[in-house]
Amino acid sequence: MSENVIIIGSGPAGLTAALYAARANLDPLLISGNEFGGQIALTNEVENYPGFPDGITGPELTELMKQQAEKFGARVEQDHVSRVDFSKHPFTLDTENGARYNAQSVIIATGASPRRLGVPGELELTGRGVSYCATCDGFFFRGKDVAVIGGGDSALQEGLFLTRFASQVHIIHRRSELRAQQILQERARENPKINFVWDSVVQDIRGNGTVNALALVNVRTGDKSELPVNGVFVYIGHYPNTDLFKGQLEMNDEGYLKVDERLHTKIPGVFAAGEAHDHVFKQAIVSAGFGCMAAMEAEKFLADLEHEGYAAISENASH
Ligand code: NAP
Repeated sequence: MSENVIIIGSGPAGLTAALYAARANLDPLLISGNEFGGQIALTNEVENYPGFPDGITGPELTELMKQQAEKFGARVEQDHVSRVDFSKHPFTLDTENGARYNAQSVIIATGASPRRLGVPGELELTGRGVSYCATCDGFFFRGKDVAVIGGGDSALQEGLFLTRFASQVHIIHRRSELRAQQILQERARENPKINFVWDSVVQDIRGNGTVNALALVNVRTGDKSELPVNGVFVYIGHYPNTDLFKGQLEMNDEGYLKVDERLHTKIPGVFAAGEAHDHVFKQAIVSAGFGCMAAMEAEKFLADLEHEGYAAISENASH
């Protein structure tokens, strides 16, 4: 038996795609991945998702999105897709739990993951002072001291954003030269709330329930120090969760999937939605919008498939 549409991923893009596909009577199957909800589920409180003036926690928002999709008939499987074959239609998907699915269309909503430092304390204190999203969590550090790790555009842009709330923002960079563009460097250097800590890396993140300090080491001198902070924002880059599609779909050098303006990949019937392709906005509401678009395109594809057949659609797409 072949599914009409399989959605891979359970962040805002995947769950919104499931809602739209379900309401279009496509009987979609969503395969959630190992971490249900994706990045937003890591956020304590979401205050910028429209419709929740008092804020909502990331896990609650995810649960409500899931309930809404299921209410209209979406099926949600807690499993992880480990292999896909887009070379033949219907497509084949294998999962870690040993299931094999055939699908007429696939929406890839596997998202992106922030790169982690990989130091002691980081995982345990994520959501308790360790954050990968200043837009989401900066507000909670009003009047507090925070650290930003990294020396690229994101570190400086988000560090500058954090000065709206924090009393002091320490930008900790492993070199003495920034990678970020000049204009951001100038703004950061001119901002009295920003303090640069050069040539330094984090050895561990300390705290008892919530972050209270960073253990640093100077990579030139070997000197060790402790920096008291209440928050740590890690901006050492993101990586899209697209390894699964290597060799089958086009991606850029960083692994973001290439799609056209309607979220079609090069393979007819395979769509991408959210941070697996979007490396610009990185917001839940934007990913939800992409999920809606991908589901509408999948619906159109399935209607065309019924009338024209896959060979004709492929032939048209190649011109
Ligand atoms: P990025 O440019 O890759 O910078 C990552 C930073 O983290 C670098 O300074 C790097 O140090 C540091 N780093 C990497 N691994 C580390 C580790 N294990 N420990 C400590 N530090 C580490 O990433 P990004 O800032 O997220 O930017 C990604 C892309 O988006 C870039 O192309 C950027 O231009 C773009 N972007 C643009 C804007 C804008 O135009 N306003 C805003 C945000 C992002 P090194 O410098 O030593 O390598």
